[in-house]
Amino acid sequence: MTEQSSHRPLSALSAEELDAFAATQREAYEQVRTKGLSLDVTRGKPSAAQLDLADGMLGLPSTTKDRSGTDVRNYGGLAGLVEIREIFAELLGVDLDQIVAGNNSSLTLMREVLVDLLLFGGIDSPRPWKDEDKVTFICPVPGYDRHFGLLAELGIEMVTVPMREDGPDVEAVAALAKDDPSVKGMWLVPTYANPTGATTTQEVAAALTSMPTAAPDFKIFWDNAYAVHHLTEDETKSADVLSLASAAGNPHRAIMFASTSKISYAGAGVAFLATSVEQVTWYLDHLGMGSIGPDKVNHLRHAEFFQDADGVRAHMRKHAEIIAPKFAELDRVLTERLAGYEVATWNSPTGGYFVNLDVLPGTASRVVALAKEVGLSLTPAGASFPHGQDPKDENIRLAPTMPPLAEVTEAMEVVATCVLLAAAEKLQDQGA
Ligand code: PLP
Repeated sequence: MTEQSSHRPLSALSAEELDAFAATQREAYEQVRTKGLSLDVTRGKPSAAQLDLADGMLGLPSTTKDRSGTDVRNYGGLAGLVEIREIFAELLGVDLDQIVAGNNSSLTLMREVLVDLLLFGGIDSPRPWKDEDKVTFICPVPGYDRHFGLLAELGIEMVTVPMREDGPDVEAVAALAKDDPSVKGMWLVPTYANPTGATTTQEVAAALTSMPTAAPDFKIFWDNAYAVHHLTEDETKSADVLSLASAAGNPHRAIMFASTSKISYAGAGVAFLATSVEQVTWYLDHLGMGSIGPDKVNHLRHAEFFQDADGVRAHMRKHAEIIAPKFAELDRVLTERLAGYEVATWNSPTGGYFVNLDVLPGTASRVVALAKEVGLSLTPAGASFPHGQDPKDENIRLAPTMPPLAEVTEAMEVVATCVLLAAAEKLQDQGA
């Protein structure tokens, strides 16, 4: 975001100026109400135009057999089709025997792994996690709401650490993990994080994979959902977490997840899990009790469509052509409307699906409520924090990919009006 603007900080206004400003924003807000809008920037979904990019897949696969001559329509092949695993092993920087291709949701794989750890324990666990007095996860915040919901459902406690530009606050993570054996793991979206857009550096990843942990079975849930989801030509590389973990003597610490949900189809893609070979076997042994094999027809369809890792990279550039203008428009409107008032900051991500907006502390819920009243759905305030509790009530996640460009413009105009109105009200209250 650029800071050049003619707007003065709201906190510098006199009481009279502030009253006048609040009245203007209230008028603008009432003006929005008359439009009867129905806009939604809540979830990071691909737009129809993005989904259309993969429609060539609908006529595939062209054959019923994989490279080895096995019929993909039948049972079997629990680890997934080699052809698609090869492509994603290259993209995710792992070996073929470290990666499993599953069905359509990586979130499901994360849930399976957590449930297996709770019920059975991992290969390095003294006992199943359910038999511990308590299990705690470290959650970088702001983070992905579904990660937190999943832990809450399973009775896993959450402690937060700040997410920074270069990844989670390593010192805070190390301090939490060092002495407390109940601290069994952490979430991390390492590339273009949801929602901050931050990418974890190789240095931070090295510290996380090598730090001493009181729990011998500490796991990093390395959710690389946006590994190849670049918005610019500067294609940020993900840290090489499995190699780092192995080199640090903690080969089973990291479990990587990814999917093609935002590459091919969000509802009909392929999800991946990658970790040490021993931990892959552990995962497959449990999986084998509930599955006789994944959807290999879909694996083959994807492998034929993309051909190779470069095919995926080229495809992602087409996505960027569609969504980068929406991110740029979001930034343009917010800059034009908000810069200089010093009541909001936001990031300009170079990849991923989200923009992280921080408003005047204590006003995020008010902004979301104001927006809702005039027909704009925003992600609930606090969603990016465990139990939906943002201690400062300042964080709002914006997801511009799904609406058409013109609606992004309209939605951000509404956001700006609501941010300014809520901030003016707050400052009026404080001055009263
Ligand atoms: N992980 C992160 C960080 C996400 O943002 C999302 C979707 O928004 C997912 C996982 C969901 O992935 P999948 O569709 O593979 O279940």
